[in-house]
Amino acid sequence: MKWGDSRGVQMYNQLLTAFDELCQEGRFAANVKRAWQLFQAEAVQKITVYSKNMINGIVKDIELHAVVIDSENIRYSSCTCHHSEFCEHIGALFFQYCKGLENGKVLAEQAYFQLLGVTRASKFIKPSDSELLINQNTNPAELFRLMHEQYGDDWKKCKHSFHPLSQTLTSIKGLAKDSPFEVQQLHWCASTLYVLYLGERALQASDSFSRYYHEMTFKRIAEPWIANLNDLLTEIKSSELQTFQLAWVKQLLAFVYECAAKSEKPTIEWDYIHYHLISLLAGNADQEHEFITLFIRRLDAEQGPYMRNMLYGSLAALKLYAGEDKEAISYIEQCQFEKVQRLIYPYVESKMLEQRWDKVQLWMDMLLQHFTNGNNLRSVGPFLALCRKASQLQPEDDRWQAIMLMLLPHSYSALAEHYAAHGKYEAWADLQMYMGRKPEDFKGNELQSIEKHAPEVVLPMYHQAVEAAIHTRNRQGYRTAARHMKKLQALYEQLGKQMTWDRYFEAMQLKYSRLRAFQEELLKGKLM
Ligand SMILES: [Zn+2]
Repeated sequence: MKWGDSRGVQMYNQLLTAFDELCQEGRFAANVKRAWQLFQAEAVQKITVYSKNMINGIVKDIELHAVVIDSENIRYSSCTCHHSEFCEHIGALFFQYCKGLENGKVLAEQAYFQLLGVTRASKFIKPSDSELLINQNTNPAELFRLMHEQYGDDWKKCKHSFHPLSQTLTSIKGLAKDSPFEVQQLHWCASTLYVLYLGERALQASDSFSRYYHEMTFKRIAEPWIANLNDLLTEIKSSELQTFQLAWVKQLLAFVYECAAKSEKPTIEWDYIHYHLISLLAGNADQEHEFITLFIRRLDAEQGPYMRNMLYGSLAALKLYAGEDKEAISYIEQCQFEKVQRLIYPYVESKMLEQRWDKVQLWMDMLLQHFTNGNNLRSVGPFLALCRKASQLQPEDDRWQAIMLMLLPHSYSALAEHYAAHGKYEAWADLQMYMGRKPEDFKGNELQSIEKHAPEVVLPMYHQAVEAAIHTRNRQGYRTAARHMKKLQALYEQLGKQMTWDRYFEAMQLKYSRLRAFQEELLKGKLM
């Protein structure tokens, strides 16, 4: 039995949409499952399609039930069991109807999964009028409308996993498989943003118990997408935008802004995506003017801290990439630092590589002030990395090292690494002494390379450590002292200063002659 004409397909879509609405949020899930069992057990004994919207049939459960489905007005459907709006018999009859269509088994299965809320199905029969040839003339807003229409419900597939979104991403990207490369790039950005939006939509629907877990999984799956998006945007930025590209970028900006405004606690960093997008318009005076006006107008109306931050950050990004550093800094000072900092570091580094030390100085001053002003030192790492970079590029200028010294003790490891990497062994050793580090505090080979390159600089540290160990006045301490002395002996030998060692050893024996246990350890350590 087939009702596989175009009318049949239309009715299928209509029914699926209507039942889907009825079964939202897992309502009737048990009935849907039971309906599927009945359908598979061939419980539907009779089915008639009549008029242009009616189906009726007989379903044999424990008793026989007469079922009527009205596809135009789903709530007028009825069953003699009178159990609910959507009973297992109505469901079974619906699946039976699906089966009668062309490719019916697949359609029935799809309908089943969709009603359970685990998959999208209505798009299985692709409406041909929505085929869109994506090229330079495509209106990007039209594309977003199409994505909404065809994929807007895909977040519902993500009840247990976000992996279905990979498929969605692939199929959306596929829409542009025959498009010119410049269009493809932008379309891929749009696809990625859309899928990120779907993921966040799914997260919002998840209950608070599993929310944390879902957030983690989503972040993990979204990470490579975002990295890819950033790569694409960087590629696009590298050449001047053509008119059609401009239209796309504006559409993407509008979409991202909307996503950010919609979600209360976004998981996706829409703000940083917005910064990247807006930076594509920097250098185009008309666009800059348009967007600065727009953002300032929005700031007047916007109260939420997340959105205000994003707007100030976007203004900063525009100014920064337009080369107006002072203006950029003044906007950044309006922001919560954590929400813009990643905009700053790569920019400053690029200015270092361009030898624009005037600009570098402006930003480093701002950063230093930020970090010396308060308790933000936990995130000082990237700033210290910039200091190291600057110091490496300008070895003759010690102001960058001076900054690092100012930020001790937080800058300790950055500074130590920097000194060691640049052969500044004396400064390295001073730093260790200043920090009160003992030889036993170092990991495995950390000291070895210094001892190899500059044995003399570690001598004071060992001498100090010997005294400290003896002052513990216990066996363990004496043992440690003896071990350090053994090391000193080797170092003096390496330096060809046997005499100095002998004099030191004699003096030590004399000084601590009363400590018998210490003497014993020296003996055991074969120092005597
Ligand atoms: Zn029933």
